[in-house]
This record gives sequence, C-alpha cells and structure tokens, in this order.
Amino acid sequence: MSDYVPTYDPLVATGPGHDQNYAPTYWAATAGAAPGDDGAIKHDMDADVVVIGSGFTGLATALFLAREHGIKAVVLEANRIAWGCTSRNGGQGQNASGRLYRSQWIARFGMDVALRLDREIRDGFDTFKDLVAGIDCDAQGGGHLFVAHRKKKLAFLENEARIMRDIFGYDARMLSREEVRRDYCADEEAEGALHESEGISVHPLKLAYGYLRLARASGARVHPGSPVTDWQTRAGIHYLRTPGGIVKARIVAVATGAYTAPGLTPYLTNRYFPVLSNCLVTRPLTRAELGATHFLTHEAITDTRTLRFYYRLLPDNRLQIGSRSAIRGADAPRAAHLRVLTDGLARKFPPLAGIDVDYSWWGWVDVSHDMVPRIVAANDIQSVFYALGYGGNGVSFSAQAGRRMAERIAGKASPTFSLPIYASPLPYPSQGRWAAPFRRLGQAALYGWYHLQDEYV
Ligand SMILES: Cc1cc2nc3c(=O)[nH]c(=O)nc-3n(C[C@H](O)[C@H](O)[C@H](O)COP(=O)(O)OP(=O)(O)OC[C@H]3O[C@@H](n4cnc5c(N)ncnc54)[C@H](O)[C@@H]3O)c2cc1C
Repeated sequence: MSDYVPTYDPLVATGPGHDQNYAPTYWAATAGAAPGDDGAIKHDMDADVVVIGSGFTGLATALFLAREHGIKAVVLEANRIAWGCTSRNGGQGQNASGRLYRSQWIARFGMDVALRLDREIRDGFDTFKDLVAGIDCDAQGGGHLFVAHRKKKLAFLENEARIMRDIFGYDARMLSREEVRRDYCADEEAEGALHESEGISVHPLKLAYGYLRLARASGARVHPGSPVTDWQTRAGIHYLRTPGGIVKARIVAVATGAYTAPGLTPYLTNRYFPVLSNCLVTRPLTRAELGATHFLTHEAITDTRTLRFYYRLLPDNRLQIGSRSAIRGADAPRAAHLRVLTDGLARKFPPLAGIDVDYSWWGWVDVSHDMVPRIVAANDIQSVFYALGYGGNGVSFSAQAGRRMAERIAGKASPTFSLPIYASPLPYPSQGRWAAPFRRLGQAALYGWYHLQDEYV
C-alpha cells in the first residue's frame, strides 16, 4: 500500500493515485477491520458492466445492479475501498440532492417539476434509510437543524420553512434562539433555526463497508488498488487499462466524484468543478464541557453561511465540524485552513476554544456548474453512464443515484428520468466550456466575497 498524498489535486494530477492509504480521518481510525474484497486486478479480464470508483455511488450502483437486475458488475477502485469523499465526509445524510434549496427548485424548474423532484428526493431518502437500517453504522436520527448564524438570515429560513410546510407537506418548523439553546445546543451564533425531522447522520466508512458487504454478497466483484489509467473504445467494447491488466467491458459506469482525472473520459471534461472541504474531530468533550455548551442533540447541524459550517456531536461525544478549505491541493495542509475550523468552533462554542483536535483532514467535493447533480447515459448507444455533481450533499443521495444508475444500465425506462437530474448531461459553465479551466482564478475572489457577505454585509 502506498502513503496517502495530502496535496492531491484533481485538476493537476493525472489520476487519483494507486493503492493509497486512507486520509487520516476519524472514520478510518474507528471503522474497524475492512471487510473482504476481491483484491487488485492481476490479469486481463472480461466484464459485462464495469463501475469505476468504490465510493457510496459506485458501491450502491453495483449493489442495485446485482440485487434488482441480476447484473454482476466489476468495480474498479484506484486506492482503498471508499478512499475518496466517502471516507472523508461529515456523515450528514439529508433529504436533499445538490446544493439548491426547494425554493430554488420552484424558481428554476417551476412548481410541477419541483413537486415531482421532491417526490424523487423523498424516495431517495427512503432508499438511504432502508440501507442504513440494515448496516451497523452508528446512525443518529432525529433530523437536521439549519441554524441562522445572523439575524438577517432568519427571513430566508422562515421562507424556506413555509415552502417546505405549505407546498411540500413537511413538518419543518422555526425555532427561536432560546429554543435552540434550550433543546439542542448553546451555539452562540444561533439567532434561530429551521428544524426538519428528516436527517440521519452516519459513520460513513462503516456505511460504505456495509455497502461493500451487501454488493459482494449479491455477486458484484470489487477490486481496490486498480486505477483505470487509460480508456479506449473499439467496436463498441471498452478497454480499461489498470496496472494489473486490461478489463474489457460492454458498459462502463463512472462513479469517480471529484476524483475524476480530467483525461479519464471526454464525457466529463470541464463538466464539474472540484472544491476542497475541511473536517476536524475534537477529543471527547468532558461532562463539564457538555454542560457548558448545553449539547443535548446528536442531530446534524449546518449554518446559513454560503461557506457553511456543518457540525454535530458524535456518539462518543467528540465534536465534528467542517467547512471550506484551500483552493489548490498544494495549499491544503496550511495551518490557516485548519484555523478556519478551530476559530469557527470557538465562536460557536466559546467553552471549547483551544480544545484538542484529534483528527483533521480534507477532501474534494464534486460541484456541478449549475448546482444540480446528474445521473445519465453519456452517449446515445447507452454504453457509458455517470452519476456526479452532488456538491457536498451526497451521503444520502448517492444511494438513490446508484439505484437509478443501475436501472438505466439495465435499460429500464421511467417517467422519473425526465426530471432535471436525469434528463441532460452535466452542463459546462454558463460562460462556455473554455471557462472551466479558469474557474479557479475567480474562486479566491468569490470566497472573499462570500466571506464578506457571510460575516459583515
Ligand atoms: C470533507 C467532506 C465533507 C463532506 N460532508 C458531507 C456531508 O456531511 N453530507 C453529505 O451529504 N455529503 C458530504 N460530502 C460529500 C460526500 O462525501 C459525497 O457526495 C459522497 O461520498 C459520494 O461520493 P462518490 O461515491 O460519488 O465519490 P467518492 O467517494 O469521491 O468516490 C470516488 C472514488 O473513485 C475513485 N477513482 C477516481 N478515479 C478513478 C480511476 N481512474 N480508476 C479507479 N478509481 C478511481 C477514487 O479513488 C474514489 O475512491 C462531503 C465531502 C467532503 C470531501
């Protein structure tokens, strides 16, 4: 196994590496022994369907292909199982997909499509819930607390709560500053919050190991340490080169998230934008600290910053918090980025200022240029598929993405596939495809502007 490379950058590297160890996450340290897998590819082989990537998306696709369609896929993973985002996230499973709020669905797609999209995302949340129920993954239910970090954000949350209640029929409700402190936690910044009862947090690597077990038990084969380094297509057959041999396939499903190398397939070139997110986990809080911060909840919490914080109390009473990070991989290890999290934690929970940080890591999030994920066939002959662009909201939705990608691979038709997440490929930036490589130049300025808006304007 090779060492983890912390400066990895998908826009610079030619691929995600080969047989790399996990990032130094709390999840990798506490997931227990990895279940069995099928080892690295060691010789040339034929497959009907190959899935590239063994994160939640790739494993869920393989699982549903086998379980619901009798198709036994071969999963190729460059590094260890679930090495990408899936072993690095905050574990917050929300009733959402992509980065748009329900009010934005209505504005962008109209009421009819927004209502249908909501039904599909609810169905997806049920898919996730069903899988979580059968896997020992430290699941913490109860919902999601969306905290107004400034007074001016209350109107936005009130509008979102009203839309969720009146149009989509959820029991979303607003909480006052006092109610948040009394019933949830003493987040000093919280001016109030929207509470939604859908929301399950998980230990993501335990969940991924569960997906792996289920997929293999249903007949899928999963090969870590097998990066696809070259992809040729001749006479309708895909030739996927890995260090141990060439895998020939009739159909390829791409589930490589933000770890997709620009040269992997032209179907994805310039169609997504990789963005870094940081995470830390503190030592367990003492009884006195739990009292001082009045932590009564283990629910998922996010705040209303555009560069939002996401945080929660883990089952062993450590606090996990995450937010934005560096722009380039080479810059990610700089202490300033960890300080964004420790400063944020201290502002929210002053009694925890300076608390020991036991784990700190980062990972790349796949952002779609229009903030909407896509699960589509990439070519007319339906031999290449992809599911990508969750924008940091893929813990739960990846289960449905895998289920729907499996249906599409199996040739199933459904009216659901006319929804925006299934009906068109990931778009180029609105300025045109030429603009994609330059997006990073504007990202620093954009982060500065968001910070100004989040904190001062
Ligand atoms: C720090 C952080 C916090 C997050 N927090 C949350 C959260 O709280 N809630 C939430 O909903 N979402 C969160 N996310 C996003 C979430 O983790 C992902 O959306 C989700 O895990 C789905 O990932 P995936 O399977 O699509 O891709 P990944 O898990 O990234 O898997 C892609 C895999 O493809 C492999 N790969 C790439 N190229 C090749 C190749 N050429 N050959 C073979 N294999 C290849 C990679 O090695 C990688 O393992 C977070 C992400 C990060 C980074």
